[in-house]
Amino acid sequence: MKTAEIRRRFLAHFEANGHTVVPSAPLPAIDDPNLLFINAGMVQFVPYFLGQRTPPFDRAVSVQKCLRTPDIDEVGKTSRHGTFFQMNGNFSFGDYFKEGAIKLAWELSTNPVEQGGYGLDGDRIWATVYLDDDEAIDIWHRVIGLPKERIVRRGKADNFWSMGIPGPCGPCSELYLDRGPTYGPGGGPEVDEDRYMEFWNLVFMQNLRGPGSGKEDFPILGELPAKNIDTGMGLERVAALLQGVDNMYEIDEVRPVLARAAEMTGRTYGAKSGHAATESHPDDVRLRVIADHVRTALMIIGDGVTPANDGRGYVLRRIMRRAIRAIRLLGWQEPALPELLPVARDCMSPSYPEVAEEFDRIASYAYAEEEAFLATLRQGTTILDTAIAETRKAGKPALTGDKAFQLHDTFGFPIDLTLEIAQEAGLTVDTEGFRSLMAEQRARAKADAQQRKTGHADLSAYRTALDSGGAIEFTGYQELRRETT
Ligand code: ATP
Ligand code: MG
Ligand code: MG
Ligand code: MG
Repeated sequence: MKTAEIRRRFLAHFEANGHTVVPSAPLPAIDDPNLLFINAGMVQFVPYFLGQRTPPFDRAVSVQKCLRTPDIDEVGKTSRHGTFFQMNGNFSFGDYFKEGAIKLAWELSTNPVEQGGYGLDGDRIWATVYLDDDEAIDIWHRVIGLPKERIVRRGKADNFWSMGIPGPCGPCSELYLDRGPTYGPGGGPEVDEDRYMEFWNLVFMQNLRGPGSGKEDFPILGELPAKNIDTGMGLERVAALLQGVDNMYEIDEVRPVLARAAEMTGRTYGAKSGHAATESHPDDVRLRVIADHVRTALMIIGDGVTPANDGRGYVLRRIMRRAIRAIRLLGWQEPALPELLPVARDCMSPSYPEVAEEFDRIASYAYAEEEAFLATLRQGTTILDTAIAETRKAGKPALTGDKAFQLHDTFGFPIDLTLEIAQEAGLTVDTEGFRSLMAEQRARAKADAQQRKTGHADLSAYRTALDSGGAIEFTGYQELRRETT
């Protein structure tokens, strides 16, 4: 089943069950000063959950464009994490609660394809619930008929959802599909999240969370004005399950970009990998990163963000540079986006016609950014070549950490390229030294920020926390810089 059809069926199922179709909010979280990008379907409905505004409907359904930068390091390595993805969600504002949400999700998931459902095998579905949520267990077992062995209790980190500080929160229940022994030995979702693929999260939103760090360590301030439902189904994950492919980078909306990148670089995708994400060959991981990031860049620029050195524009820049580096590491030296971006456009335009209508504008920003980055790389390469020659002449085996740091800091030249080029020249790099210089620089930046402790600095902390798809501990710009260290 094509991704566009999975999306259509989702909207149709919930519309038939009294939900109002609400369009996706744009990716930049413009109404929320604490968030850079929308990372869940419920974000645009937060004022309704908090009782600050009265919703014009009791039930809503949407397909929300989402971005989760904290998942960036997982991309291509797990089977299920994209930076950009689409979250299908149904929402109840003080209307149906746990039983309604579980029934509606079960019906769509398992109803036969001929009857408008996804036709997933109910015998392979597992459900997780929050530790003490006996009510949800009872519904899964008694109403749905799920055997107790496939209902798993999990702790706060996994099964208690919250958004914002203060913000709505509540226990959740997640649906997993067992993809079978090809993907791992078994044991349930709590031991293997690759064989058991999480595809839908049902949040029983009933409380207000207070301040605190992480996903677990925070107080519950009280009850929300009403009991609500907020769900999120990963469109790409369901597409992977229904299209019989191993991961979300191989679905109809993503695979053509990957295929083009493989063609350009002369790689045979999947030739050296097994089914499980953990068995991936590095080339395959890079091809997936390219496919994911190019699509993400298309969607971000499509929503009006342009490359910059801070904020949303920096997130975009970082994602684009990662894609460009990945294809370069596969041996492609020319501008790659003119080859790849049109392919991503053709994948996404059936659901998002605006990326075709706006393509000239999107492409002009993207191609200019790539040209600028390639110029940076050329400049860095010249300096690096000189340093390599000098190191050799001095008979030393390693480039100094100092040089690697200077290349990174002054020329924006990424460390993994320094490593790669040095290695080709038969040298190593003093990465210890490089790391300690990076750490010093971070400490300086932190001290600086502390000193200037303005509302602005505080806000960036808040944003990073919120961009995690829940709340995480503040790691500030280290998060953003992690790729280069
Ligand atoms: P995971 O544990 O796999 O990282 P999650 O628990 O963080 O997922 P939720 O916050 O529950 O995800 O989001 C709701 C749904 O959105 C998930 O069940 C999944 O189907 C989808 N989803 C979440 N993150 C991603 C992502 N990075 N890429 C694609 N789909 C995602
Ligand atoms: Mg996650
Ligand atoms: Mg999860
Ligand atoms: Mg989840």
